[in-house]
Order: sequence, then C-alpha cells, then structure tokens
Amino acid sequence: MGSAMTALPLVFDAPRRGKPPRHLADLTREEARAAVADLGQPAFRADQLARHYYRGTTDPAQMTDIPAAARETLREALLPELLTVVRHQTADNGRTRKTLWRLHDGALVESVLMRYPDRATVCISSQAGCGMACPFCATGQAGLTRNLSAAEIIGQAVAAAAAMADGEVAGGPGRLSNVVFMGMGEPLANYARVRATLDALLGTAPYGLGLSQRSVTVSTVGLVPAIRRLTEEGRNVTLAVSLHAPDDELRDTLVPINTRWKVGEVIEAADAYAQRTGRRYSVEYALIRDVNDQPFRADLLGRLLAGKLAHVNLIPLNPTPGSPWDASPLPAQREFVARLRAAGVATTVRDTRGQDIDGACGQLAAADRVEGVPAVALPTPAVEAPVPLGAEADQG
Ligand code: SAH
Repeated sequence: MGSAMTALPLVFDAPRRGKPPRHLADLTREEARAAVADLGQPAFRADQLARHYYRGTTDPAQMTDIPAAARETLREALLPELLTVVRHQTADNGRTRKTLWRLHDGALVESVLMRYPDRATVCISSQAGCGMACPFCATGQAGLTRNLSAAEIIGQAVAAAAAMADGEVAGGPGRLSNVVFMGMGEPLANYARVRATLDALLGTAPYGLGLSQRSVTVSTVGLVPAIRRLTEEGRNVTLAVSLHAPDDELRDTLVPINTRWKVGEVIEAADAYAQRTGRRYSVEYALIRDVNDQPFRADLLGRLLAGKLAHVNLIPLNPTPGSPWDASPLPAQREFVARLRAAGVATTVRDTRGQDIDGACGQLAAADRVEGVPAVALPTPAVEAPVPLGAEADQG
C-alpha cells in the first residue's frame, strides 16, 4: 500500500457540460402534461407517450393511439434519443449482455444485462466516470466526466426491459426484474437524478417500469448525509454499502471517502436505514490478496456487523489494468467466509458475470474515444444475488 494509491482527489461536484436535451423521463407527470399542452396537444397525450416510452417504443409508426400528425412533434420534443448504442457484447452463452452507450456530448457509459433462471438484472451507470477515486476500481481511477441526467439513467433500464421483452438475450422473451446501481459512478453523489430514477423504476404504468422496491439496489461508497436523506424518504429500496475494510486505517486508502466519513458513521447510517425500512443492507467487500483478506480483518468485520441487520457480499477482486492487486486465493476466501459466519454474520460470495467481455467488476477499460471524450471504465456489472460458498466454480 503506498501513498500513490490515494493520489486522486475526491470530486463531488461534477463538471458542468452541455445539458442533455429535455426528455419525458426527466419530467414528473404534471410537468409532462404541461409540456404536451404547450405543444398544443391534449394533456393526456403525455400519458400515451409515457406508456410507449416505458414499453421501449420510440418509433412514431407504432404510436397508433396518437394522431399521425402529432407523433413526430411529440417525439421530437419529448423523446429525443439520449443513448446511442456503440456496441453490444455478449457472454455466458448469450445470457449476459454489456452495452456501451454514447451520450449526446460523446461521453460513454455502460450497462450490463444479466439473465438468471429466476430473474433478469440490469446494472446501470449513474455518472460518466466517478469522483470517488477508489484505487482498485477502474472507473474511480478514470475520474468524473459528468453526472447523468435522470432520463439518461432511466433509459438504460428501459432499454434493458425492452431487450428482455423482445427476447434479445438468450432464453426467449422475459421480464426485467432487478436493477442495481453498480455500474459507473457514485449514485448518491448524483442524488436528485437517482431519486428521480427510483421514481421511474418503481412507478406504475404509464409513468414507470413497475419494479418492486426490494429488487432495486442502490450501492454507495458511504456518503453519510445522502444515506440519511435516503432514510428520511419513504422508499425501501435495497441499500448496499461498499465497505472493503473494517478499519479506518485501511479504508482511508481503499475507499478515500472514508477520510471524511468513517467506518463507524457509515455503519451507523446504514443501520438507521435498516431500522426504518426493516430490510437488511448489504456490505460489499472486494477480497484483495494480502490487502484486506487477513483473518484478523474477517474477525474485525464480524465484530462490527454481528447482530446487525446486514449481510456481507464478498467479491473476489477483478484486477484492473496497471493495478498491483490481485484477487484473494480460494483458501483465504474460504477462511474469511468461515470467520464471518462463525461471528454470526450472513455471508455470501458474489457470482461474477461477463468476465470474457471485460464485463465483470472493475475489469472494463473501454478503449473507445468518441468525439474526443475518453472512455472510462465500468467497474462493476456485479450481480446482486450471490452464490453460496461451495459454488466457487461459478465465480470469476
Ligand atoms: N460507487 C458505488 C457503485 C459502483 S461500484 C459503490 O462504490 O458502491 C459497485 C461495486 O463494485 C462496489 O462495491 C465497488 O466497490 C465494487 N468494485 C469496484 N471495482 C471493483 C473491482 N475491481 N473488483 C471487485 N469489485 C469492485
């Protein structure tokens, strides 16, 4: 561990760049109805447009419930194409699909759709790049390009829902069931847009995808004031905290935001969230060989979490290019799990998907450059549903 690892500054305020064009998904129902009325159309056309949008239809030809003459006007004004596919890559026999998106200003983000026998999960990005500077994460090392707008975040989930409905992933047509904010970016550093995204994910037709709260996971480095804000709001989405170390000394270097909000404060904030929602939170812990995988750290983590409404999700580190770090060897992983369980802490090891397409946590460092904007890496198409220990053959 050297000081070089913390060389990047923490960045909270995203650089201001040209705003993406206005989109229906950025607006509340009332705002959408007003916008449609401004175009000289009856307000209920907003509901019609929303129904098409959330079902994945932006082609005017298919909007047969709207008069032909009005379709193009409405689409142009409220459904601009914010996300353009640069490419799809598939893995895991077509059950994992990573999409590289270009935004209106050339910035690049990625999302990963992962299909399982019992569910389909999309891992979405909330920022282009990330300002949190975690040294083991490729996105963190690339820095923050900008916040995504709500519609740019929502669009990734809508596209995944449409891909499932259209049978674009192996296994035939299906339904998107889960969303995890584990792609690029720190969701709680883009709070208002992420909150608006939650509205859209949880909202019922026509203004939303109708997902259940427990199937949406917000993952954070531990921005304590934002966790408190989330606690004060009425939502019960699943909270994941990226801890990676049980002690402040190590966490100060692995998750630099720890220099501002300490392990104890983060856990206290997560506990308060769990108390309010009655739902367990998940503690993310990337096992890094000889860095955070020692038996004494397992014991420390066990003591920290024993008796709490939490479970630990261990992720074997996906080494990023140029990083000196490696995943913990299996015996160290097993020992870590055993000690946590002995302390009474529910523990699982995360399945990783899409490794052969650089789609697993921290692997991706897109080489694309679009309109002079350097690509940044996707840290983590990590899967929220873990495999029990003993299924190591499935892990990356
Ligand atoms: N900024 C948020 C969400 C994005 S990262 C957060 O930090 O929680 C999603 C998860 O992947 C986090 O737990 C993150 O720490 C983890 N991660 C990042 N890089 C990784 C890597 N190289 N190997 C394993 N996990 C990684």
